[in-house]
Amino acid sequence: MTLKDVVEVGVNCVWPPTCAACRQVVQANGALCQSCWAELQFLPHNVAGDIDSLPGVYAAVCYDGVAQEIVKAFKFRQKVRLGRTLGALLYLCHRDLLNCVDCLVPVPLHRQRLFERGYNQSALLAKELSLHVKELEVCNGLVRNRKTSQQIGLSRAARWKNLSGSMVIDEIARSDLAGKRVLLVDDVYTSGATLHACTRALQHEGVDVLGGLVFARALPERMVLDMDLQKDN
Ligand SMILES: [Zn+2]
Repeated sequence: MTLKDVVEVGVNCVWPPTCAACRQVVQANGALCQSCWAELQFLPHNVAGDIDSLPGVYAAVCYDGVAQEIVKAFKFRQKVRLGRTLGALLYLCHRDLLNCVDCLVPVPLHRQRLFERGYNQSALLAKELSLHVKELEVCNGLVRNRKTSQQIGLSRAARWKNLSGSMVIDEIARSDLAGKRVLLVDDVYTSGATLHACTRALQHEGVDVLGGLVFARALPERMVLDMDLQKDN
């Protein structure tokens, strides 16, 4: 047992780890309780993209209820250990896809937001995913070249306008990404504006983008209806 493990055991005795969604006590940091696991709505593997520039959007779960609480904890409550859980889950759902790509590119945060938060949750997720696949690289070469307003509360059209032209590839990444099959990684997909802006920036430099891989995806109403019908059948 390392010194770090000993410290962690001590800390866990005083402040037991809690479920990221409902805050019930659980056995390990980054774990979910059984009832929250049971509430996650897993998605079919081939939920296609609905934006023209992106070949596919691949998600593990539907972005509602428990999934929303998990994403909030991962993003805003410093629950960085969730990256390991979400990365493992996403790998299990999309291992075939991950075995077909060369490089993961996390959706970037603006440097000011990165400084305030202390970490980029999408980069943590990409790093965890890369640990499951031999020779899968992570390239943090996509950069937000201007600070955009928070997307929350904006209409779909306003979100797209807000992010248009906000991403660029840095000089070093241009050569790193040449000739590679790339998958974008983000924690959540809502309007598609963020992945669209990232895809455009990569494609502008001739990068082969296979799609976007996200932990949770908000589904259009018609898709939720289709899935309910499939369940009833
Ligand atoms: Zn829970």
